[in-house]
Parts: sequence; C-alpha cells; structure tokens
Amino acid sequence: SGLLAGKRAVITAAAQGIGRAAADAFRREGASVIATDINEEKLGDLAVKGIEIAKLDVLSEEAIEAFAARTGAIDVIFNCAGFVHAGSILEASEKDYDFAFDLNVKSMYRMIRAFLPGMIEKGGGSIINMSSVAGVPMGVPNRFVYSASKAAVIGLTKSVAIDFIGKGIRCNAIAPGTVQSPSLEERMRAQGNYEEARAAFIARQPMGRLGTPEEIAALAVYLASDVSAYTTGHVHVVDGGMSL
Ligand code: NAD
Repeated sequence: SGLLAGKRAVITAAAQGIGRAAADAFRREGASVIATDINEEKLGDLAVKGIEIAKLDVLSEEAIEAFAARTGAIDVIFNCAGFVHAGSILEASEKDYDFAFDLNVKSMYRMIRAFLPGMIEKGGGSIINMSSVAGVPMGVPNRFVYSASKAAVIGLTKSVAIDFIGKGIRCNAIAPGTVQSPSLEERMRAQGNYEEARAAFIARQPMGRLGTPEEIAALAVYLASDVSAYTTGHVHVVDGGMSL
C-alpha cells in the first residue's frame, strides 16, 4: 500500500539531504527504491531500511549506462544531484561553470537518456528534476553559476515533458528555497562566523525558518505518484515564501 506502491524508483544523490529524505519517503509510500550516490559509505544505513543502494557517479555516462542496464525499467527517476557555487560572475571560473553544468544539468541529460527508452516501453513514468528558486523565479545574490545551471534544468524539464507527453511520460522540476542539509551546514561553516551565516540564511526566508528535507521529499512523492497525473513540464516551488 502507499502512494507509490508498485513503482520502482531511482534517486541520485541520495546519501544525504533532500535525496536521502526522498529515499525514505518513497520507501514509506511503498516504492521499490534504488538510492544512489558517489558516497557509497553514507548510503549504507539506507540498505537496512529495505532500500537498494548503489554507487553511481552522475558525471559518468558510462557508469549510468551500466547501471541502467542492471536495473531494467524504472517508473520514477528523481535527479537530485547538484552543487552550489558561491559568488558573482566575476568570481566564477570556467572550471566552476563547466562543473556546475556537468553536475547540475548534464547529469540529468545522461540519466534521462539512459532510462527514458525503458519508461516509454513500459507505457509511462515520472521524471523529477531538482532545480531551485535561484534562477527562474528569482535572482539570488552571489549564486551566479548555480542560478544559471538551475535555470537550465527548467528548459531541459519542459523540453522532455513536451516531447514525450504522448508516451505517458511526465517530467517536472522542484524549486526549493533554503533547506537544512549537510551541504548547507558546510556553506554556513565556510563563511567563518557560523551563527551570523545561519541568521543570514534564515533572514532570506519570510517564514523565519529553513525548510526541512522532508518537506521537499513530500513534494517529490506527490510528483512521483499518480496523484499528480495531470501536471507535467512545470516548476513546483516549495520555498517558504522566499520567492514571493
Ligand atoms: P547535499 O548537497 O547536502 O548532498 C548532495 C549529495 O550529492 C551528496 O550526498 C553527494 O555525495 C552527492 N553527489 C555529489 N556529487 C555527485 C555525483 N557526481 N554523483 C552522484 N552524487 C553526487 O544535499 P541537498 O542540500 O539536499 O541538495 C540536493 C539537491 O537539492 C541539489 O541539487 C541542490 O542544488 C538542491 N537544492 C538544495 C537546496 C538547499 O538549500 N539545501 C535548495 C535548493 C535546491
């Protein structure tokens, strides 16, 4: 039983943060979940909860193809992997730019190309791509490379949605505001004064608090499930009012 009963789902970047919360939530809703990440060690304790785990580097086309050949057809892909660079365009090296697009966008291109034929053959599926409010609904200071890459995710999402709408494929994007996660913690610590950095992140959120990974995972459950059967190609914002 559950909203995702009978569905087989793959999640990228599932070792921590939103991806991990989604692995837990998908499992709770009855999905058969394959949680993947480059950090295999951190995936470990998901395995004891009845979740399959697999090491997968989404920067590698070869690894993704080999992985897709092993899993067989999949009903749901949650492309969650991403990295946040700080700084304006003047601080962004070409290396940062290329890395952000490789991890935040091209990884989705690789995953979708690997799994879409199987989904089409099966008669349908749901693809969920991680974007952010940084980029399309709003400009966020000092997030140049990140925002450019997360905006690209939206074009990719709409394009896949329109091309395969007649094949039962849905493709949506999630755009969170600031969410408590291990990498956000790192970004706060990297700023020197942790308390000040944390207060600044909270000040961006009109609700006066950060979001939780579980609150984003709940939206991913909805988009993965047939409850959301009538929505495709859109950006679903879950930002505590950040972009209002
Ligand atoms: P996180 O940044 O703490 O964790 C990221 C995970 O990605 C790690 O487990 C890491 O090992 C994995 N990863 C890194 N490179 C990888 C690769 N090449 N292949 C596979 N996995 C790889 O988690 P988070 O903060 O919840 O972020 C998850 C997603 O949500 C990202 O795309 C991020 O941009 C997006 N997002 C986060 C926030 C936020 O405030 N935390 C807001 C909006 C969007």
